[in-house]
Amino acid sequence: MAAKDPVIITEKGEMRNWSRKIRSQGKTVGLVPTMGYLHQGHLSLIQEAHKHSQLIVVSIYVNPGQFSPSEDLSTYPSDFHGDILKLKSVLGGVDAVFCPKNLYDYSNNSKQKNKNENENCASDGGGWVVSCVEEKGSGHETWVRIERLEKGLCGKSRPVFFRGVATIVTKLFNIVEPDVAVFGKKDYQQWRIIQRMVRDLDFAIEIVGSEVIRDSDGLALSSRNVHLSPEEREKALSISRSLVSAKSAAEEGQVKCGELKDLAVKTITQAGGRIDYAEIVEQESLEAVEEIKSPVVFCIAAWFGKQHQSMGGNGI
Ligand code: AMP
Repeated sequence: MAAKDPVIITEKGEMRNWSRKIRSQGKTVGLVPTMGYLHQGHLSLIQEAHKHSQLIVVSIYVNPGQFSPSEDLSTYPSDFHGDILKLKSVLGGVDAVFCPKNLYDYSNNSKQKNKNENENCASDGGGWVVSCVEEKGSGHETWVRIERLEKGLCGKSRPVFFRGVATIVTKLFNIVEPDVAVFGKKDYQQWRIIQRMVRDLDFAIEIVGSEVIRDSDGLALSSRNVHLSPEEREKALSISRSLVSAKSAAEEGQVKCGELKDLAVKTITQAGGRIDYAEIVEQESLEAVEEIKSPVVFCIAAWFGKQHQSMGGNGI
């Protein structure tokens, strides 16, 4: 089958008009939000989106609102031309790629004003949390927060992260106006947060969770894996190994989460990883569970070298 050339759209007005035109023809639009540097994990979301909608939009945007100034925004990998080639190769193709330059740039006037205002921002604690959006002096000051769900797991060490994710996803929903949006369960907390936001704010959008795609050695695919040295990559495999062992232990009757967590933490630290968190949680509320009585999910994040690897979604 000939590869399909997606329309490349950079302006939000143009994106909205494209989508509205499609929907006025009675067709459905599916959105797959990404930060680019695409791999098979992203492409699997597109395949999933094809099951739920007729036309597919992939957004490629590295969102400064979810990075704190000390995080890796400037070194986040990108390869736009490679991404387009990969999108052309997906079975069924992609209809539009939305790749805006800056979704927080509203006007030149507000820029200077907010730069001054931000001199009073505390880095955290006093109610203000600062992302690269505030740091750059954007006029943007409206944030979507999922009060409880955003605080645990990845949210503990990254206080601006889910605020930024929920806000950019809201912006993308308002610009693309999709019928369906697909998220990976690799970022389990993110998927659950978006589901909750859509329910709580009455977005008329179906949220689909798509399964984790791993490399042949078991490492979950991630754009950031490119930063792992071969040794760090080898060590990072301890995360998937520890999840597999925990799952087997649970299936063999171990219901005590403390024991299962200890086992996983030991495997990862022995491999040289530094644990960020290892939590067994209820699948929707993400509340910590002490004893397994119903389906749970084991969420783990650890540092290997300078690289943070997280993994949720290995339901046990
Ligand atoms: P990112 O570009 O890393 O922001 O990811 C964009 C989307 O792809 C998110 O919904 C991720 O959860 C999803 N994703 C990333 N890696 C994988 C993977 N290995 N398997 C499944 N989904 C993934």
